[in-house]
Amino acid sequence: MATPLTDQEKRKQISIRGIVGVENVAELKKGFNRHLHFTLVKDRNIATPRDYYFALAHTVRDHLVGRWIRTQQFYYEADPKRVYYLSLEFYMGRTLQNTMINLGLQNACDEAIYQLGLDMEELEEMEEDAGLGNGGLGRLAACFLDSLATLGLAAYGYGIRYEYGIFNQKIRDGWQVEEADDWLRHGNPWEKARPEYMLPVHFYGRVEETRDGSKWVDTQVVLAMPYDTPIPGYMNNTVNTMRLWSARAPNDFNLRDFNVGDYIEAVLDRNLAENISRVLYPNDNFFEGKELRLKQEYFVVAATLQDIIRRFKTTKKGVPGRTSFETFPDKVAIQLNDTHPAMAIPELMRIFVDIEKLDWDTAWDLTRRTFAYTNHTILPEALERWPVELLENLLPRHLQIIYEINQHHLDKVAELYPNDMDKLKKMSLIEEDGVKRVNMAHLCIVGSHAVNGVAQIHSNIIKAEVFRDFSDLEPDKFQNKTNGITPRRWLLLCNPGLAELIAEVIGEDYVKDLSQLQKLKDFVDDATFIRDVAKVKQDNKLKFAQYLEKEYRVKINPSSMFDVHVKRIHEYKRQVLNCLHIIAMYNRTHTDYTQCNILMSPTQDNAHEKPAAESQASVNIRIVWLIPATDLSEQISTAGTEASGTGNMKFMLNGALTIGTMDGANVEMAEEAGEENLFIFGMRVDDVTAMDKKGYDAMEYYKKIPELKQVMDQITSGFFCPKNPDLFKDLTNMLFKHDRDRTITEYATEVWGVEPTDLKIPPPSEPREAFEQTARALKKM
Ligand SMILES: *Cc1c(COP(=O)(O)O)cnc(C)c1O
Repeated sequence: MATPLTDQEKRKQISIRGIVGVENVAELKKGFNRHLHFTLVKDRNIATPRDYYFALAHTVRDHLVGRWIRTQQFYYEADPKRVYYLSLEFYMGRTLQNTMINLGLQNACDEAIYQLGLDMEELEEMEEDAGLGNGGLGRLAACFLDSLATLGLAAYGYGIRYEYGIFNQKIRDGWQVEEADDWLRHGNPWEKARPEYMLPVHFYGRVEETRDGSKWVDTQVVLAMPYDTPIPGYMNNTVNTMRLWSARAPNDFNLRDFNVGDYIEAVLDRNLAENISRVLYPNDNFFEGKELRLKQEYFVVAATLQDIIRRFKTTKKGVPGRTSFETFPDKVAIQLNDTHPAMAIPELMRIFVDIEKLDWDTAWDLTRRTFAYTNHTILPEALERWPVELLENLLPRHLQIIYEINQHHLDKVAELYPNDMDKLKKMSLIEEDGVKRVNMAHLCIVGSHAVNGVAQIHSNIIKAEVFRDFSDLEPDKFQNKTNGITPRRWLLLCNPGLAELIAEVIGEDYVKDLSQLQKLKDFVDDATFIRDVAKVKQDNKLKFAQYLEKEYRVKINPSSMFDVHVKRIHEYKRQVLNCLHIIAMYNRTHTDYTQCNILMSPTQDNAHEKPAAESQASVNIRIVWLIPATDLSEQISTAGTEASGTGNMKFMLNGALTIGTMDGANVEMAEEAGEENLFIFGMRVDDVTAMDKKGYDAMEYYKKIPELKQVMDQITSGFFCPKNPDLFKDLTNMLFKHDRDRTITEYATEVWGVEPTDLKIPPPSEPREAFEQTARALKKM
């Protein structure tokens, strides 16, 4: 039984946020004052909250440095197998509080800052978010770095140091306006530039065939400057490294034809090269085939592989002279976070074959044993398919290597399935319909020894549907690794009240082993514990309500149910479904419309849906405060479309109930908690597949369900926007669209004798040949 403790007793007993020692606090205060003076060059009379934040950040950082150096020395001495997590996104958020927690300094820092007469929360609010990601995929990379360090693995995150991360969303007159995320403006105390490890990355040029093999020549060079960020494990003295590359123009950039007049132009042109790491593409689950994006993808890959090979060659036990790469896969594991860093596969082949002079088969064996690939989505519009023409221009040697990989691969397929042209076409790395393209997922599958989906249902779909032919070929290659979240950030940091309450009844070990939360089952009938949990939730709701009122002048009743749907806006996530439901509830209760508390954080989507002009638009709701305050978590994607989701887990870990479909990791959550403890509704994957086959007729439901008809009619007639009644016509048209397509398909095939095709006419931006290719493909059909 949990007996109530005073706050002071709790502090003494619970050490998950660190122990407060007198010397400890005195040391921190000394460090803080030293940094305010020597680093910030300020005194207490003129220092701003931002100065205080920087002084504290540097003080906390000092506690990382010794452990960071020691960890890296240890890896050099012990030479364990290194794990490299390659990702175009690391959605790290803020670092200060996470560092204090993982070093066990939170309570001591709280005390030091209090004794200095300052407000910790105010200082923490000064830190910029490292928003180098779009959503789940980028946050997963960040959570994984925390876990890798906490588990004491010799791991590195490699990515791009975007100068501008995910844009800040502003709402003007009900419409989204994107504002540049100038997150480095005030400096970043957590990074250390390493100009001494700068590396060249080549682009363009041509391939020269010599007696000594293929040579990639006449290239343009961009330099990759590494910036290192420490990644502390939770209370284990391990500090790993995240290394992000920034693009720098070489000093002779464009200066080959030097003359006085060109000099100024040449210096200004350096921007062209440095644009590579300028900005994160704000696409979530959407492929946009832009050359600059392809440059980013190759830039991180080329710099990282040089670094990996340098480290492999300079281990302590390495013998001088010619390196043997025999042990490479025993010392190096590279995980590809989706296909974004897929060019690493042909790049490693290029290094092995063209530079290190290994024969093709040896190089290919080493490469496959090194790489593993995580698939994050099956949405067709999200799959990367780079036009061959773009690759041929930017990375000519890599295109050759991809063709050669494909040749070997298709030879094997042809051997297993003789005379099966359809099989070859479906499994090729090169798509020949329309514009010739490289299918990057196929490249990753062929070039890796392991391929995984991110939740059981998603992995099943990959194996049985999307990559069926590949799993028939190599069934053991396909695995499931259900996504997870770090309990340090998503419980200890965001919800200290609940974290400590749990520690009081089951101890602290759950922080490193969440399966221990099972022990809480013994307390389901403990009235004291249940009351305390409810009190924590109520406090969190109050805190969030106060935040909303202060930052957005939106008043909400803290005793009402907080029913929360927070995620990137996308058709498959079905924010629209939730909106229809909200309107239906409004109609049922006949509440005055203006009294509905609908907080909308409108679009950052690919579909360009627009928000309701009349809704109270609010943005940048701090999710770390929203999640602990939530009563009901909305996880309502169409079954079979959300690969895993991780938002779902964050809410559940903070004691919210879930309403959701049997999709992504909701399935595992229902299994773990018991389906009776979630509100599961809607079609299962099999129902959706069956309906797709049969044909979906939105009108049928519209006619059958009066409540739905009323909602649709209200939206269509402009009931919610009388000043601009056509504003939502596109929305209702979109909802009925599938119906129109079905009707026209029936006319086409059954009346007019023509066949609809999937072929897309290339846009005018693509070359004429692409257009002609598509036309030829159409003729053959
Ligand atoms: C966890 C997280 C996501 C993913 O949320 P889903 O609901 O799984 O889409 C997106 N953005 C941020 C900032 C996150 O922390």
